[in-house]
Amino acid sequence: MRWCPMTHIADFGGARFVGADFSSLPGISVFGAFSRVVRLNHISHKSYFSAFGIRNRGNDDLSLRLTFSEASRSKVAEALSLKSAATLDAALWLPFRGGSNILETSWAFRYCPACLRQGFHTLLHQLPWVRRCPWHRMRLLTKCAVCDSSLTLRGDPGHQLLACRNGHDIFSEMVSCAYPFDQAESAAAFIDRYLTWAEKERAYTLLIPPEGATTSFDAMRNAVVLPQALRDSCRGPEWILSTSHTRTLKRQAMRANTVHDLPSALAKLTSLRDEVAGLELPPQISPGFLNIGCQLANRLPPESLTDAEMSLFFHGLACQPNRTFKPARRSPLAEIRFLPPLLIGQTRVIHRSTLSKTASRSAEQLLAVIVGQFMPPDPQAEASLQLLLRALASILKRAYAEGMRIVLSRYIPALFDSKRDRPRLTEPWILVRKEGHQLDRIKIVWAKRSRLP
Ligand SMILES: [Zn+2]
Ligand SMILES: [Zn+2]
Repeated sequence: MRWCPMTHIADFGGARFVGADFSSLPGISVFGAFSRVVRLNHISHKSYFSAFGIRNRGNDDLSLRLTFSEASRSKVAEALSLKSAATLDAALWLPFRGGSNILETSWAFRYCPACLRQGFHTLLHQLPWVRRCPWHRMRLLTKCAVCDSSLTLRGDPGHQLLACRNGHDIFSEMVSCAYPFDQAESAAAFIDRYLTWAEKERAYTLLIPPEGATTSFDAMRNAVVLPQALRDSCRGPEWILSTSHTRTLKRQAMRANTVHDLPSALAKLTSLRDEVAGLELPPQISPGFLNIGCQLANRLPPESLTDAEMSLFFHGLACQPNRTFKPARRSPLAEIRFLPPLLIGQTRVIHRSTLSKTASRSAEQLLAVIVGQFMPPDPQAEASLQLLLRALASILKRAYAEGMRIVLSRYIPALFDSKRDRPRLTEPWILVRKEGHQLDRIKIVWAKRSRLP
C-alpha cells in the first residue's frame, strides 16, 4: 500500500494486501478475511473506505455487518477477491430451510482461539451445534479467553480490531504473516464434508422458529444432530446441559382396519388461524387435554377451586376428583370455568384464550406449512398426517397446560411455590423432516421464554 501525501488517503491501487492469499484458509468468513487484512496491513478505521469501499459506522459490529449486509459484504468481497460460496453465503451453513435470519438475530462473534491467532475465522464456528473447533478441538468462545470481556469488533480508534477491551490480543501478526495455517488440509476436508451434509439436509428439513422469539437460536444446539463422522470432532463437553426440552415424534406405521379420519381432524384444527373463541378438539386428541385438566385440578392445594369449578374439570369423565378435595369458599369465577375442555353435545371445546399464544401460533404455522402437501387416502400419506396430528396435539397440549397454569396462578398464588405447576412459558422451535414425499419426524425444542410476550 502507498500513502498519497496530498490527501492522506491510502492508495491500494491494485497492490495486493499482505496476508490476502486465502487459498489455504478454506471457508474463511468475510469478516475473518477483513479483520486479518486490517490487522496485517495496519489499516486504520479511517481508511476502510479507501481500502474496501465501506464506511466505518461507529457502533457497527463488523462481524455482523460483513456477514449479513449485502452491500458491505459484497464491497469487501470484491476488494479482497473473495468468491467462495462458503465465505459469502451464511445460509449454506444451515442444515435446514426456513428461518434464514436466525443466525443474524442471535449473532455473537464466536471463534476458535487457535484459528483466530492465525487470522482465521469461519462461519462454521458460528453454528450453535458446533461447540469445538473440529481441527484444533478447542472450545469456541465469544469473549476474551483471558478476561472474558468483549472483543473489539468495530473500527474504534482506542482499540485494535479483535483485541479485547482490556487489550488482550489473541491475533498474532507474526504467526499470521510468517506461517501457513497449521490445519489447512483438515479444515478444508471437514468444511467440505460439513457443507455437503448440510446441503443434503436442506432438501428435507425445515425450521419453524417461534414467532417473536424471545429465546435465541442457541436453543437448537442439541436439536441438530451431526452425522458421527462430523460430530466426534466438534462435540462440546457433555456437562453443558441445555435448559430446553426436546421432543421427537416419528412417523409410525398405520394400523389397518381402524377409522382414522385424519383430514377432518386436521380440518378442525385449521380454525386456529381464525379469530374464534373456541377450538373444537378432534376426538383423537381430546383425551390428552382432558387428562391435563383433571390431573392439574387434582394436584391443586386444598380450597383452590369451588365445587362447581372442580366438577367442570370432570364433567362427562369416568374419573372423579380426589377424595381429599376441599372446595374453596368463594363464588365460582368465570375465568376458571372457561379452563376445562367444555363438553358441547358430543364434542370437546377449549377456550382459545387458555392457549399460550406463541405456541398456538407455531401449531398454526406447522399446519399451514404441511397441509396441502399430502393427499389422502394414500396410506403412506395417512401416516404423515397422523404424525402431523400428533405433533400439533403435543404443541397445543403444552400451550394449554401453560396457559391454564397462568390463569390459575392469578387466583392460587401457592402455584408459584410448586416445582411442577408454577406458571412458566416456553416457546417451540420446530424442525420438520421429510423422507421422500412423506413426513418422517418432527422435533420440537421447547425453550424457556426469556420474557413475557
Ligand atoms: Zn481452530
Ligand atoms: Zn481480555
